[in-house]
Amino acid sequence: MKEIKHLINGEFVGSASGKMFDDINPATGQVIARVHEGGKAEIDAAVSAARAALKGPWGTMPLDQRMALLRQVAEGIQARAEEFAQAESADNGMPITLARTAAVPRGSANFTQFAEHFKYVATETWEMDGALNYSLRRPLGVIGIISPWNFPLLLSTWKIAPALASGNTVVMKPSEETPMTALLTAEVINEILPPGVFNVVQGYGADSAGAALSEHPDVDGITFTGETTTGKTIMRAAADGLKKLSFELGGKNPNIVFADADLEEALTTTLRSSFANQGEVCLCGSRIYVQRPIFDEFVAGLVAKVKANVKVGDPSDPSSTMGSLVSREHFQRVMSFIESARADGATFKCGGKVAEDLPDHLAEGVFIEPTVITGLGPDCKAQRQEIFGPVVSITPFDTEEEALALANDTRYGLGATVWTQNLGTAHRMSAGLEAGIIWVNTWFLRDLRTPFGGMKNSGIGREGGVHSLEFYSELKNICIKL
Ligand code: NAD
Repeated sequence: MKEIKHLINGEFVGSASGKMFDDINPATGQVIARVHEGGKAEIDAAVSAARAALKGPWGTMPLDQRMALLRQVAEGIQARAEEFAQAESADNGMPITLARTAAVPRGSANFTQFAEHFKYVATETWEMDGALNYSLRRPLGVIGIISPWNFPLLLSTWKIAPALASGNTVVMKPSEETPMTALLTAEVINEILPPGVFNVVQGYGADSAGAALSEHPDVDGITFTGETTTGKTIMRAAADGLKKLSFELGGKNPNIVFADADLEEALTTTLRSSFANQGEVCLCGSRIYVQRPIFDEFVAGLVAKVKANVKVGDPSDPSSTMGSLVSREHFQRVMSFIESARADGATFKCGGKVAEDLPDHLAEGVFIEPTVITGLGPDCKAQRQEIFGPVVSITPFDTEEEALALANDTRYGLGATVWTQNLGTAHRMSAGLEAGIIWVNTWFLRDLRTPFGGMKNSGIGREGGVHSLEFYSELKNICIKL
């Protein structure tokens, strides 16, 4: 059985407590690895290794050399791309094709992107009468990264790469549900960077490694992706040390389709924005609002596309377009939202149940059919809370003002999508929507130089391009009297 250890100060080590937990493939229910469960002792050791590494060769390394090493990390991931893809799919239930075409290439691209971008960011100078101000950037210090299970490699490297490119050292705590690609990332980085620069402690969140990292007095900043409620807990834990925080949290994103939209394009993309990675994407558009003249046609069109294109099946089969949910616990949570929608009188246009007719080896897996519902009122639980599964609801609207009011009637503010051919509508909606990222006539089209993050309860701060540099570095002003 594969064993997953921590990476601390350049060594792969087990836990002092000797405690371990199972890593389960959610599609088969099989235990695929045993994971060393880290706690305070491992976090303490990793943080002191990271602190010491700041003073080692890494701390004084010329920028070009540091960036060259990060490009080697990108190449190291590419060189083991298939191994990464298999691990991600087995851990998460993600279709292997999605892992091969999106998760792993983006995991590698995160390193190339930040190895390039930060080389070209200038600092400012201000001339005074008889004095000169200029600013210098310095690394923030030791960065704690706490990452989720839904796109483990993509989302962790989105933070590891800029943290390292800015000259920091890192202690990462990946999700207990998906420890595999964190181990592979550790293996790749450990061959390239000095010991202690990048450390991984496996384990749980609350009362465990995650909590120990968020409250550690020698950690300078915490960057976290996960649930809004977890973000609040981490914020409280980090308050004592006044740690700098960057949070990418939950969403309940609106997908608004006007009657003048290119319907075929809107439907094709909505199929993806609803069910990509079983709906376990923070940016999925789970609240769909459709203008009344095309409402019936849109609902029928989406259901037809689900039936024609979505194949729920073994994640390791390249022809599967939807895999398994991440865990039995999460599956039960999603099913309880489906039951609450049913109790609230929703109409199920398709799905709403456990996927059937799967091969015997998936009998212990947790698969849900892609689910499209209508008739949910704005205050129903399934319409208000983040489900994070393959469930979307469609609601009609009449006017632009009504669409905007419905879309913004949420405590979240991560993403939004607008479908229209009218430039005025596109601009007015984009200006009015309370979300950190707005797509017009597309979805999930990402330029890694742009600001990424959420408003309201969906996050604090922005990462991406120079915005990542803002978080991962300290800027100091020097004033010289001439
Ligand atoms: P989660 O909050 O349950 O867990 C995320 C991480 O936090 C895990 O590593 C977990 O072990 C750790 N953790 C849990 N409790 C902790 C505590 N008390 N102290 C410290 N660490 C703790 O989230 P999840 O279920 O892994 O991920 C799904 C959530 O992530 C969804 O809400 C989704 O919307 C969100 N998400 C947001 C973005 C974004 O960019 N905004 C991207 C992906 C996922």
